[in-house]
Amino acid sequence: MSDHTHTIPGPFGIALAQAQQQLLDSLPTAERTEQVTLADALERVLAADIYSPFPVPAANNSAMDGFALRSADVCPEHLGDTDTTKVQLWPVVGQSLAGHPFRGEVPVGACIRITTGGVLPDALNTVVMQEDVVRHHRAASELNGNDQAEQMYISLSRAPTSGQFVRLRGSELSTGQAVLKQGTVLGPLQLGLLATLGIAIVPVFAKIRVGVLSTGDELKQPGEALQPGDLYDSNRVVLRAVLTRLGATVTDFGWVADDPVAMRALFLQAASTVDVLVCSGGVSVGDADHTRAVLAELGSIGFWQVAMKPGKPFAFGKISDAAGQPCWFFGLPGNPVSAVVTCEQLLVPALQRLQGQTAQIPQLWPATAASRFKKKPGRLDLQRAKLQVTAEGVTVSAVGLDSSAMLTSMLEGDALVHLELPRGDVSQGESVWLQPKSPWWR
Ligand code: AMP
Ligand code: MG
Repeated sequence: MSDHTHTIPGPFGIALAQAQQQLLDSLPTAERTEQVTLADALERVLAADIYSPFPVPAANNSAMDGFALRSADVCPEHLGDTDTTKVQLWPVVGQSLAGHPFRGEVPVGACIRITTGGVLPDALNTVVMQEDVVRHHRAASELNGNDQAEQMYISLSRAPTSGQFVRLRGSELSTGQAVLKQGTVLGPLQLGLLATLGIAIVPVFAKIRVGVLSTGDELKQPGEALQPGDLYDSNRVVLRAVLTRLGATVTDFGWVADDPVAMRALFLQAASTVDVLVCSGGVSVGDADHTRAVLAELGSIGFWQVAMKPGKPFAFGKISDAAGQPCWFFGLPGNPVSAVVTCEQLLVPALQRLQGQTAQIPQLWPATAASRFKKKPGRLDLQRAKLQVTAEGVTVSAVGLDSSAMLTSMLEGDALVHLELPRGDVSQGESVWLQPKSPWWR
């Protein structure tokens, strides 16, 4: 990561990095845990470090289908001899199949048939692939005067390397070795690893309860008819979807008018039932923007306004319910792109911390501007951009539509370009920092 942001509060609010840090410093990490089965653990946050309870693999076993033998028994001068009276013949004295270990003795110069995953008897140390042996079926009497049933023998086509094709006990994990850290989100591979260790029940952090609501007299819900000047409430749909992907238990508190009395009542009702309340709209400085005043009245403001574009009107604080339990409050800007950008830069890392996960601040990568980017100094600009991978490296160009009101610009772009706070217009060929489009918006 570069020093792409500045931490000095400016006329447009505090810097993004400072806001992110303040969030992570103010918010407690999760405490409530529960036990779930592996089948219910996908996307849950692990609440304890996991150590391997036994060595993996638990026993020496074969990586190939073939024959297991003792490398010290190999006579190199009699390998692959076509004269069967001279070639070293290995009696096959038993077999070890996956799930059915060989339990007998293996005499000097003898071998056993083994399949992939079959346990290697302690006395043996090497596996020869079946492609590298010649099989000899013959009456035992021909070789040693014993005319019992037919005996199988093999001869080796080439000298094996001692220890070849053997997976040694504990070579992947030793007993007590740390495997997964608390705070890991359990995906398919992590679940597979837990299963490998025989762990059926896992401790995870309890889901956080997050409420969402929208404010704005002009908002109508999809399905309703629009009056002149109205528009549809899309932010709440976006937020519900992200919060669901994040693994929170989401409660939708609907829509509230730009009316401080109604807002106060709804904020208080919501705060008594959820851990976090996310509200979009009304957080700027217009006459109808009451979110900040209501928040200050019901609790306290941690910070307000972040020096970034889009996303300047953003408020973080808390509301305390009657029992004194804090409900963390996030006031997101109403403009759809501003809501999306503050959601990924500020809300998501904050919620990750609250749900016990390691907070993921979006990572930036160096790139070259393939077009001009218009910018005024004083704020960090996060502009929607198209990304190209060329022989010279990664380049980014501005998408045509760049208004914070246009959700289509987020769909068209496949990256955000972070143009640092003091920077002005960016010319083609200049170095920039790019953030690939977050998986939240896939
Ligand atoms: P505000 O932050 O309340 O000043 O709103 C800024 C702009 O975003 C206005 O044009 C609003 O109509 C629009 N807006 C506010 N809330 C939403 C929402 N939930 N969905 C879509 N647009 C919204
Ligand atoms: Mg509004």
